[in-house]
Amino acid sequence: MKQQANSLCLQCGLCCSDILFAQVDLGEQTITRVCRTRWRSVSINVIERSSGASFSLPCGALDEQGRCRCYHERPHTCARFQCRLLQCYEAGLISWPKALEKIEQVKSHVAALSQSLADLATDEPEAPFYFRLQLFREWYQAANPEARAEVSHLMVAQRALLLILSQEFYLSDTVSQR
Ligand code: SF4
Ligand code: SF4
Repeated sequence: MKQQANSLCLQCGLCCSDILFAQVDLGEQTITRVCRTRWRSVSINVIERSSGASFSLPCGALDEQGRCRCYHERPHTCARFQCRLLQCYEAGLISWPKALEKIEQVKSHVAALSQSLADLATDEPEAPFYFRLQLFREWYQAANPEARAEVSHLMVAQRALLLILSQEFYLSDTVSQR
């Protein structure tokens, strides 16, 4: 029997973490006092600006099992979002085991890269993974050839990760928010 699409998300949580995106853009959504209070209670810290509201990832509502602690009151942006993998699963273009395999592939890439990045003096291990990768790329661009050669395997690994993300998860070239 085909599993429910939202069961895939419960096994994943990547778009709520600090791997795929840096923030969630709430767009035109009206934020009621009830929502604001509920979201704050699960550590979703919404920043409201004249250009729109957003909150940073990893999301405070994501629990250790990768589940949303305010699933039924989650922002509209979250409820609407479907990554490429989820869309393909819903359309029957990828099987359940294959979809799970892709998710696990990303998670194991991230775990290995995170450990390797932590060995670099320039790393900020407490920062979101998305920014740590960005920091690494900026450092790499500015480094001399000898320093680059020492970490070329990390550059290859982060390119491999970005390739999987762009082929299997991202919907467009806009990858800083969802
Ligand atoms: S990345 Fe895709 S499959 Fe994973 S939780 Fe988000 S929408 Fe669901
Ligand atoms: S509110 Fe829930 S669905 Fe939205 S980013 Fe946070 S954990 Fe994910």
